[in-house]
Amino acid sequence: MPSTLKSLVQSRHPLISIETRDEEHAIELVREIAKELSRPLFEWSMTAGMRQLDKKGTWQSVAMQTGKTLKVFTPIAGSDEEPEGSKTKLIKKAVDALTVVVEVSNSAMYVFKDLGPHAKDAHVQRLLRDAASLPETRRSTVILVDSGSLPDDVRQLAVPYDIGWPSLEELEQVVKQTFSRIRKDSLQEITSTLTRREMDHLVQTLRGLTRTEAERVVASVIFQDFSLSGEDLPAVLDAKRSLLGSAGSLESIAIDFTIEDVGGFENLKAWLRQRRGGFSKKAREFGLVPPRGILMLGVPGCGKSLCAKAVAADWGMPLLRLDPGVLYNKFIGESERQMRDALAQAEAMAPVILWIDEIEKAFASASGGSADGGLSKRMFGSLLSWMQDHRHPIFLVATANDISALPPELMRKGRFDEVFFVDLPTSEARMNILSIHLVRRERDPAQFDLVQLAEASNGFNGAELEQAILGAMYGAYQEGCQLEDRHIVEEMSKTRPLSVLMSERITELRDWACDRCVSAD
Ligand code: ATP
Repeated sequence: MPSTLKSLVQSRHPLISIETRDEEHAIELVREIAKELSRPLFEWSMTAGMRQLDKKGTWQSVAMQTGKTLKVFTPIAGSDEEPEGSKTKLIKKAVDALTVVVEVSNSAMYVFKDLGPHAKDAHVQRLLRDAASLPETRRSTVILVDSGSLPDDVRQLAVPYDIGWPSLEELEQVVKQTFSRIRKDSLQEITSTLTRREMDHLVQTLRGLTRTEAERVVASVIFQDFSLSGEDLPAVLDAKRSLLGSAGSLESIAIDFTIEDVGGFENLKAWLRQRRGGFSKKAREFGLVPPRGILMLGVPGCGKSLCAKAVAADWGMPLLRLDPGVLYNKFIGESERQMRDALAQAEAMAPVILWIDEIEKAFASASGGSADGGLSKRMFGSLLSWMQDHRHPIFLVATANDISALPPELMRKGRFDEVFFVDLPTSEARMNILSIHLVRRERDPAQFDLVQLAEASNGFNGAELEQAILGAMYGAYQEGCQLEDRHIVEEMSKTRPLSVLMSERITELRDWACDRCVSAD
């Protein structure tokens, strides 16, 4: 059984680190434990200096007299100024606060908020080591609450404690408490028309946010129209998207189309249709193994990325993109930590579609003698074991243009449910893609000779077909007439498709894929 924070404190671990974005919740936990164990609680932050929690539950500034005596006093009129004429000195600096920890024996709990940037200082590091090696009888507990900036040396000194992500029940509590608090404080009448299903949906949508973030998102949608209803769900999703967009290496992607907007891919579409609902309780009860993921390998510009979005749209699940490029960090150990965090966050947000675009770019050097000191190999290893072990409803969609650059372990049976090869579109698929893009530009496909256009675009990928229509529209606009077949044919004749420019590579790719992959179309 994993240790609880309380048991770590009780067993007198001198140094505990809690790395989290949810500082408020971490402090709340520590407060509860200090109360339960009747231990004095001190808190240090760069802005407020050192403070002690008094019996009434308010933080009072702490002053030092001779360097060893701690004196607590109430700030005058709410200010943190030292009283005039006083011989005491407020403890503002990290070094002074840690000196108190080392020199005063009071079995207290000390929380340090965001010590990370200060912990690069040699004096601070020395004091932390001293605090960690005090004899047990003199020991206090130092808890470092940090959002991830602790230097590795310090991280290794401390016992890590993971406060985890809020569960669905906790998130529901957050929604209810936020609603009640706003209703109590507001002069305006606040209403809620959330049904049980909408509440479940809302709580699912809040997954992956900290308690504090979830509270803010819920409060912001309530304040928009002084009510909480099913209609707020898109706004909650947007707020979450913007919050996550600014944090970490997972990006939440808006889905603005359906699987019908993707031309071709008949095989893949049928495969996806069959597995839709594979995460449901009913499917589990039937004995189905939930789908784990697909790898899409193929010719550039043929719609692989589009497919990742289409799966999310078709299965009604949020889409998260993991950009492995942003995981790499110049500090040793940081990249692996970021990768673990990203995967943990995806787990917290599950059910989700997790999309890793151009997977070969991130992990390519894992296949050969890498120039990055084995980092990409280790990162790749973590990803593989995660893929194998996780039990969350996460469907992984990985896309790649160049499979030869990928380590062969990725292709081993059991990692992905299927490896699809995305080839250049067939003539029928080209007709389909052309009509999709004509409709998107408010043109009626029936007015065009799609058979002729498909013939004129042999060897084109989806992106080039779209470009041909866009270019043709400019031509028609310049002539001052409606878009016609001839404009599109002319634009096509001017295009040198990638399949010509890269013909050798595409042949190679096809040869490689023919007996290893399933055709997407
Ligand atoms: P890359 O490997 O270069 O990232 P890709 O295979 O992921 O390419 P997309 O980025 O999905 O290709 O495609 C680029 C654009 O081309 C899409 O946004 C879409 O507008 C159009 N497109 C490509 N394939 C299709 C298709 N099958 N159906 C409809 N549109 C397509």
